[in-house]
Amino acid sequence: MATDPLRLPTDKIVRPDKDRFLNEENPFEAMMSRFDRAAQLLDLEPGLYKVLRHPEKQIIVSVPVLMDSGEVEVFTGYRVLYNTSRGPAKGGIRFDMQVNLEEVKALAAWMTWKCAVVNLPFGGAKGGVICDPLKMSVGELERLTRRYTSGIIATLGPDSDVPAPDVNTNERVMAWVMDTYSMQARHTVTAVVTGKPIELGGSLGRREATGRGCMFMVLEALKHLGMPVQGTTVAVQGFGNVGSVAADLMAKQGCRIIAISDRTGGYHNKAGIDVPGALDHVKKHRSLEGFTGGDPITNEELLTMPVDVLLPAALENVITSKNASKVQAKIICEGANGPTTAGADSILEEKGIFVIPDILANAGGVTVSYFEWVQDRGGYFWTEDTVNQRLEDIMTRSFQEVLQMSKTHKVNMRTAAYMLSISRVAIVHRLRGIYA
Ligand code: GLU
Repeated sequence: MATDPLRLPTDKIVRPDKDRFLNEENPFEAMMSRFDRAAQLLDLEPGLYKVLRHPEKQIIVSVPVLMDSGEVEVFTGYRVLYNTSRGPAKGGIRFDMQVNLEEVKALAAWMTWKCAVVNLPFGGAKGGVICDPLKMSVGELERLTRRYTSGIIATLGPDSDVPAPDVNTNERVMAWVMDTYSMQARHTVTAVVTGKPIELGGSLGRREATGRGCMFMVLEALKHLGMPVQGTTVAVQGFGNVGSVAADLMAKQGCRIIAISDRTGGYHNKAGIDVPGALDHVKKHRSLEGFTGGDPITNEELLTMPVDVLLPAALENVITSKNASKVQAKIICEGANGPTTAGADSILEEKGIFVIPDILANAGGVTVSYFEWVQDRGGYFWTEDTVNQRLEDIMTRSFQEVLQMSKTHKVNMRTAAYMLSISRVAIVHRLRGIYA
């Protein structure tokens, strides 16, 4: 029996073996190894350590969809609620062939730490469907989205689980999720999902929020390191909703974007990429393929080129123990979730690269999701300036809090961000106790 009612029951903590085989490609292990390090530094009590290593709820659904061909295809979908101690579960839904349960679990945990690091009253969740949306028609995507939503509807709700866009999902997909949920609830429930079209209760500034947040983080890092903004060279991997907006906003601040890429390949231009031109190209062709504003390079070359700032804004595991020693950037701003493997962390640290970790760097999206949820529930909408100002306040304050943590404990920004967020989740668990 624990003597202090606010402390969880204790028993002998099982410390992970430092030399145990770490599967770099497994994002859940990548998340856990960072969690373990922060938990040890925080001296987290064993019971709580165990609680926080397990997702609260994992849902797997089969999603039958009538395809345009007349055939029925069955897709697999997931929704993982990692932790809801601080509030409703929050996190996106991705449609991608790489989706798997380990990845969704890791992403749901990352959402938990992300919401806590910027101090939003949310827990963390993630969802995904294994599919290739680029090969599907709008009708097929709508049927897939609605059937997947029906499959996970038991957890959804403004007070319980609030999805948002993620890889390959967008405002339109969120509108279908909202409509499907609302038809079951028999009234319109806008706050059940964020990242919606403005007309349906979406927030101004939400679409740009993750990229805008990255821009604020890069500015803070440059200031901290005493580097000028003007002429700062930047390479951006991934030219979707995060990378393209961040590139555009950083160019407007005076940075020189010298390389961009997407899954079709990359482009290098020493004089600076014409970012609005690249955005136009993507609007017309759905990808950067055929872009003429730079010399073709591979994604691998982009990651290791000499730049001041590297912004990986695509998928997981692009900076690994194999290429980390070749990275030449001074700052890495992780626009994507989990772009750096745990094995690469120490290599980057030894090289003195300042890494703004994903759970802080890309928290702008969920921060404006929170604003959207607040606006929907209050039925009162803010101007774009108010949204952007409040986003800047939260992001810069969070950067400073993480930096302070890193100075106090003499750890890098990633460990500091985990320590800050885990300690916030831990406090809530201690206060709430274990429900029996
Ligand atoms: N998918 C985004 C992320 O990974 C946003 C999540 C949200 O707004 O709930 O942070």
